Amino acid sequence: ATMPPLLSAIANAGRHGVLVKSAVAMERLGEIDTAALDKTGTLTEGAPEVTDVRPLLGSGLDEDGLLALAAAAEHPSEHPLARAIVSAARGRGLPIAAAEDFTALPGLGVTAVVDGREVRVGRAEGDAGRDDGATVVRVLRDGTLALTDRLRADAPATTAALTALTGTAPVLLTGDNAHTAARVADATGLTDVRADLLPEDKVKAVRELQDRGRKVLFVGDGVNDAPALAAAHSGVAMGSAGADLALESADAVVVRDELATVPAVVRLSRAARRLVV
Ligand code: ADP
Ligand code: MG
Repeated sequence: ATMPPLLSAIANAGRHGVLVKSAVAMERLGEIDTAALDKTGTLTEGAPEVTDVRPLLGSGLDEDGLLALAAAAEHPSEHPLARAIVSAARGRGLPIAAAEDFTALPGLGVTAVVDGREVRVGRAEGDAGRDDGATVVRVLRDGTLALTDRLRADAPATTAALTALTGTAPVLLTGDNAHTAARVADATGLTDVRADLLPEDKVKAVRELQDRGRKVLFVGDGVNDAPALAAAHSGVAMGSAGADLALESADAVVVRDELATVPAVVRLSRAARRLVV
């Protein structure tokens, strides 16, 4: 028996390592005319490394003390920056204290009580970022940590393929600072870059494009991306390290951890739609 084109496209997408959740989702992938991409975990590998630990003078902490404190507060978080901070502390053999009253503020950071004191780790407001493109995270009152994340090897080819498919370069939407965002944009040939966005700003950016008649493909991976994934005409989540909420909000999930599969499934959808009468 022959399978309906959209269903065989779903099977085909599965062979590419992309789980498309329904025939409607498969169809919508081929309708997009604009792509909007998250940075951390989407264009980059999402496995940053701590490259610099700087306790503030007067904090009473040395490098290890600052890292251990940040790791304790970040331990319950699933954010890539949190995982990097915890593994850096483990790498130095530091003890990670149990945190209480943990709260994650998507797009901002975390707060927790460690050894009876409140610790806040997150976005370094007013920090323009560093020339080397590192992301700077502030441990309130105590110091800063710098983290760097590698670009995915297939990121430049993917942005080029999406540009060819839609006739317009993808937009970069990120909660990270403008400096780091510009670095990634330069490396991937993107010029429309929006940095320092909160999760609701990412949704707003997607909605604005759609209000102007665009059909937006949004690709993201984090909890902070869930609202934009849901608002987009088509939402695709990077699955390997993606947050559960992002996977649930998406129309399709990239399970093979290759960004280049995204334009590939757009092409599969377009081919299938040509066969649907
Ligand atoms: P992106 O849009 O690049 O995926 P996010 O929205 O997740 O980034 O985060 C934006 C910024 O907020 C980060 O660059 C960082 O400064 C801060 N941040 C978010 N979550 C955390 C966290 N768990 N620990 C430290 N900083 C965080
Ligand atoms: Mg992300």
